[in-house]
Amino acid sequence: MKKSNEEKLFSLKDYYVFDRKIMNKSEGYIKMFSKDFEKNININEHTDVGMISLIVFPMLKQLENYYNEEICISAGLVLSLLEAENINLRIKSYHAENLIFRLTSIWDYYYNIINEYLHLEIPADNIIKKRIINRHCVNVDFVKDGKIIKVVEKPLPIEEQKRIRKESRTKIKTLNKIMLINTISHRFHLTERFKEIFSIMDSDCIEQLKHIRNQIVHRRALGAGISPDYDFLGQSISINNKGWCDFNELSEIIKLNLNVITKEIQLIHEVIFFDERPNSIENKDKQYFVIKVKCKDCGKESILPEMKTIEEQKIPCPVCWKHEIEIIDKFKTNELNYGGRMNNHIKKFIEHLDNIT
Ligand SMILES: [Zn+2]
Repeated sequence: MKKSNEEKLFSLKDYYVFDRKIMNKSEGYIKMFSKDFEKNININEHTDVGMISLIVFPMLKQLENYYNEEICISAGLVLSLLEAENINLRIKSYHAENLIFRLTSIWDYYYNIINEYLHLEIPADNIIKKRIINRHCVNVDFVKDGKIIKVVEKPLPIEEQKRIRKESRTKIKTLNKIMLINTISHRFHLTERFKEIFSIMDSDCIEQLKHIRNQIVHRRALGAGISPDYDFLGQSISINNKGWCDFNELSEIIKLNLNVITKEIQLIHEVIFFDERPNSIENKDKQYFVIKVKCKDCGKESILPEMKTIEEQKIPCPVCWKHEIEIIDKFKTNELNYGGRMNNHIKKFIEHLDNIT
């Protein structure tokens, strides 16, 4: 076979060093698409924020930073390269592939945040699913060993393990868009923000980008000129020196995806910031409030679940238990936080009764 007379191979410099014009244009795009998600929050909207919201918030901030840095910086460069006429197809494709993977992967990170926030407990991937199934295949015993208690895992009989593994493989589903939407819709009464989140998740541009990503994963690199294709003669090799993907269209799809992702992050930022957890289906029409009270006797301020059946004068201060409180504020809470505050309040009241009797 003759030695092929291919184009020269590019170097690190060709892939990573660009002229001022491209860099300036990239900076412009980065500025255009990066976003301060806290800036648009209406700080006058006062709500009761619970523990889960506080735990999930750092995970959300990490996603926002991922978007603003890894996605926006990559997007700025790619959009600028795709428009440039003096850049080779392979260099454009290399950077675009990087961005396409990030733009499609961010959805799973996004689903994970909702999964954690709403405690859906859907396994994030097959690795976690496998661990869950393994856990189902053992009995946990607490065995006393001298002064300490040891946790001993005893595997179930092999036949039982086989049955559990077989059943769990189909029964336990991993996290994806459909699983997320179905689980939430089945258990919760959707708020307006959640309805909007789900509606945006169905945007065409997300599927268009996934379609390109899937071809890169299974069939051809973005910069491939020679690749399998399908026409009236069936599957065969197609040759196109300009590549198989229209870069003008790709550029538009990328911009649409960036817009959709920022809208979605903004919405979930607001949900978690205000702890706007949807009500369960059973309590779909209820509204939950907490009251901030100040005791005229001990002077302490406390937050209590609103108890509509009790008159203000009859609500005791949860610190000194005198009936001398005044309500100084009232704001929205969610079903979970309300329940937690109510349990806590009842527990304190019982402790108080125990102390005085
Ligand atoms: Zn008091």
